[in-house]
Parts: sequence; C-alpha cells; structure tokens
Amino acid sequence: MPPMITTHGLNKKYGNRAVVENLDLHVPEGCVYGFLGPNGSGKSTTMKMLLSLVRPTGGEIHVMGRPMRRSTRRELLGRIGSLIETPPGYGHLTGRENMRLVQRLLGLAEEQAMRAVRTVRLQAHLDRRVRDYSLGMKQRLGIAMALAREPRILILDEPTNGLDPAGIDEIRGLLTRLADDGVTVMVSSHLLGEIDRTATVLGILGNGRMLFQGTREQLFARSTPDVLIDTTDPGRALDLTARWGSAPDGTAVRLPGLDDGATAHVVSHLVREHVDIHGVRRDTQSLEDVFMDLTGGQGL
Ligand code: ADP
Repeated sequence: MPPMITTHGLNKKYGNRAVVENLDLHVPEGCVYGFLGPNGSGKSTTMKMLLSLVRPTGGEIHVMGRPMRRSTRRELLGRIGSLIETPPGYGHLTGRENMRLVQRLLGLAEEQAMRAVRTVRLQAHLDRRVRDYSLGMKQRLGIAMALAREPRILILDEPTNGLDPAGIDEIRGLLTRLADDGVTVMVSSHLLGEIDRTATVLGILGNGRMLFQGTREQLFARSTPDVLIDTTDPGRALDLTARWGSAPDGTAVRLPGLDDGATAHVVSHLVREHVDIHGVRRDTQSLEDVFMDLTGGQGL
C-alpha cells in the first residue's frame, strides 16, 4: 500500500537556524502515526509544512503518492483534516453553530457535519457555548470540524496537551476508532507516554532530525535492555565489573548496553573470580528507557 504521506529531505530554516533538517517522513495508510519529540524539536513546523501553512526551505512532500505542488495543493489539502492551533472554534457560538460554519464554508451536507460530531461523541453538548466546554470537549469539537470534510488524513498537533487523564483517554480511543475506519492519523506529542499505546508507527524527532521511525517493536529491537546480575557479594561484583559501567541495584549489579556475548564474558569473569551468581536477567523496558538509549541518555 502506498504511504499516505512521505517527505524527502524536508528542510526548514529560519534565518540561519535549521529547525527541521532532512526529514524523510513515511506515514503508512491507516496507521496512527505518533510524532514525538520535545518542545521545540520541530513537530509543529513539520506539520505546518505538510499543510502548506509554512513554506519549506527545501525537500519534497508527497501526499497519497502525488507531489505537493502549486497545481496539486488545493486538491491534496482537501483530503487532509487538521487541528493545529488550539483551542478551535468561536467561543461565543455553540458547538452546533461552529459546525454549521464549517459545513457552509466547505459546502458540506449537514449529515456530514453531524456524522463528525457523533464520531467525537459530542452530540449531547452541541447547544452549549464553546467557551463553556471543557478543554477535552473543545479538542473534540476541533477534531469534528477537521473530520466534517471526511478527510483521508487527519493531522493533529498535541491534541492531548493539557487534558486530564479522562480527556486523554477519550482522544486515544477516538484516534484508534478513526484509524479502524481507515483514516490515517498523524498526531504529535511532547510526552512519550501519551500517544505511545495508541500509535502503531512512531516518528521521534530531536532538534529537527528524525531519531527513529518505525513500529514500536522495531524501536524496542534497537535497544539493549540492562542486564541484572544477582549475587551474594554485590560489593565485589560491582568492583569487578566497574569497567563495564556497572551500578548497584538492590542486591544485584546492573550493567547497561551488554549484548549476549558481552554478558557471557562478564559472567565468566565473575565466576573466575569466585563470585557466587544466582541469577542473570534482562530488565524490562519502558518506551522512556528505550528512548534514553536512543538519545544517549538525554531522553525527551
Ligand atoms: P515543536 O512543535 O516540536 O514544539 P516547533 O516546530 O514549534 O517545535 O519549533 C521548532 C523550532 O523552530 C523552535 O525552536 C521554534 O522556536 C522555532 N520556530 C518556530 N516557528 C518559528 C518562526 N516563525 N520564526 C522563527 N523560529 C520559529
């Protein structure tokens, strides 16, 4: 299946400062693409370039296999819904009035707007003023406004930012439902955990560069979990393994970044030195741990 969005060598400079550098995005059809990176890493700038809101300094963008050019822009952008600046909508109008505005602006049928409202589960609140909505409801209205035109691709910039756990859960569920319905969702967050379980593909950005792009499984496969050696003499074991960067961990000794061969080498070294070992294990890893490995301990 052709990817819904690809970029080749996408660049953005402000003055001499590169904020997005040689980005090769690959967003497969029907996925939730989690676009992760710390604040200031270039996520918004990238999304705005995809939406033609910011002009790239260099590189190419393809949407649904077609190059984004002046001649194709209008048509391709018509297939993309987005929520970039938040909170969306006019606060003094009701949800229904906001939806009606979008409907008229885009020349849509009322049913299309109402279907979008049902998708985000906002039917019961349509006649309240948007300024009285919770932040989560405002975000859902924004997503409904983006969905009304029935886009193939939905681009959401930090839709979970500032939401309480229930609001975050609601958005996660919504993104998964949309992907199940065949919408390709690209969603950014500066918090690894917020999108982690929802995203099927991850793109991790640091300082405008792609640090990793692929599935969660591929990400985990690139990282080596710490080895924990359980011993009756952790003090001596620690001394004997100092050159491998060992650290104490309760009654165990923790060793980072050892592959299986190096682990065998360390264990036989300890055995030769008559240290009693009663367990050797690999630690379990969170996405944060893996990411720490990837960024050489900088984290997000
Ligand atoms: P993120 O969305 O990951 O937080 P942004 O794309 O908003 O990151 O910003 C990336 C970098 O580009 C930041 O250092 C930001 O200050 C800078 N930047 C964004 N927009 C502009 C602009 N219009 N002019 C100059 N610098 C900008």
